[in-house]
Amino acid sequence: MNTTRPTTRTTARTTQEWQAADAAHFLHPFTDFQALAKKGSRIITRADNIYLTDSEGARILDAMSGLWCVNVGYGQQALIDAATRQLQELPFYNSFFQTTTPPAIELAELLAQVSPPGFQHVFFSGSGSEGNDTVVRMVRRYWDLQGQPDRQVIISRWNGYHGSTMAGASLGGMAYMHAQGGLPIPGITHIEQPHWFLHGRPKGLSREDFGKQAAGWLEQKILEVGPDKVAAFIGEPVQGAGGVIVPPETYWPEIQRICDQYGILLVSDEVICGFGRTGRWFGCETMGTRPDLITFAKGVTSGYIPLGGVLVGERVAKALIEQGGEFEHGYTYSGHPVACAVALANIRLIQEQKLVERVHDDLGPYLADAFRELSAHPLVGEAQTCGLMGALQLVKDKASGSGFAPELEVGMLCRGHCFGNGLIMRAVGDRMIIAPPLVMTRAQIDEMLALIRLCLDLTLADLQSRGWLA
Ligand SMILES: *Cc1c(COP(=O)(O)O)cnc(C)c1O
Repeated sequence: MNTTRPTTRTTARTTQEWQAADAAHFLHPFTDFQALAKKGSRIITRADNIYLTDSEGARILDAMSGLWCVNVGYGQQALIDAATRQLQELPFYNSFFQTTTPPAIELAELLAQVSPPGFQHVFFSGSGSEGNDTVVRMVRRYWDLQGQPDRQVIISRWNGYHGSTMAGASLGGMAYMHAQGGLPIPGITHIEQPHWFLHGRPKGLSREDFGKQAAGWLEQKILEVGPDKVAAFIGEPVQGAGGVIVPPETYWPEIQRICDQYGILLVSDEVICGFGRTGRWFGCETMGTRPDLITFAKGVTSGYIPLGGVLVGERVAKALIEQGGEFEHGYTYSGHPVACAVALANIRLIQEQKLVERVHDDLGPYLADAFRELSAHPLVGEAQTCGLMGALQLVKDKASGSGFAPELEVGMLCRGHCFGNGLIMRAVGDRMIIAPPLVMTRAQIDEMLALIRLCLDLTLADLQSRGWLA
């Protein structure tokens, strides 16, 4: 086979041609390369608003906003224009060596306006993972500057997701990630997640009491490690990749109280929850915490171009600025002018279209009502939403809440029915999750829900015909 295709080729290939070239050269993230090569990738070729088109011409409702990021939907001209203009004017310059560019300055200024009180500074990265690498560097630098260099340990949670670099994957609590490559790196330790359903909906314990108990695991860990050795606690306001796990309302206030009591820094990883997803600009506002650092990425540009970073609260900023001298850390693309120009256009669009208010006042409650109805479905053991994200826990026995054997991969089965019927919904084990674009209309939410219901019914029938369900 002749593998030297002209690089200028512009005519579309067939799906089979795309798949062959993909299998031959492209190692996808979080993928069994060999298995995918056999099966062939799905090729997405276009998108508009909340709908994708694949190389076969199928139209698919994207209830995952790409990968939790396309909050303003696809095809927004303001973002496209901002990128085009900036590419023409100044496609790149760095922010090292006492220099920077107007979009980076303006974005820093605008972020300070939309952030919770006390956040006046930002450090830019190229992604959420890099943002969390910055968090580790910054947290440890902060304690050095306080004359407490022994405060090195960062506590995070099992089944949390904080990215895929060495630090990001270490902070994260995905055991299957730790199993490859000798993670976590030293000085990172984990506690159990506030997952009411996973913990068996403990009898005699209300959700609220469970929330306090789960927060108490942080205090236990602090005492175990030694309070003078703990630097910070990091968590997602709502765990995203872990399965859209919405903690009981009592959880975060109790975490805040514990962090305050022991003087440790609180880091809110808002790579998913930031920029309106939970119905406030940041998830910490929904959960009622006052973090010291906020990691962001994804929704800051609605995924149109990579950008991430860390919002730095007063306490840490003051130390770094007034006592710190040079901070020996940064990325070539820290404050990339094109990425910052797109972020500016994206945030202004969110403001103009009042998307945060819309999620808070209208779409969030509307989705919550619909999920309450879905919880009556025979396969659904728990239905949760927060703003415009939601989870459906699939169970074998609704009354007891007992699930399917993991090796049956019922979640993947359901996901297959979704794909087959023009809906992107993700499976985390047997938990089906959504995080649709914030620009949806109520009619589009209805359309999405009709598809979800259809796919649940198809999954139910499928399970019955396989004899996996009575
Ligand atoms: C996606 C994600 C990250 C990692 O971001 P990347 O841009 O993929 O590096 C970190 N934290 C959370 C909460 C995320 O959802």
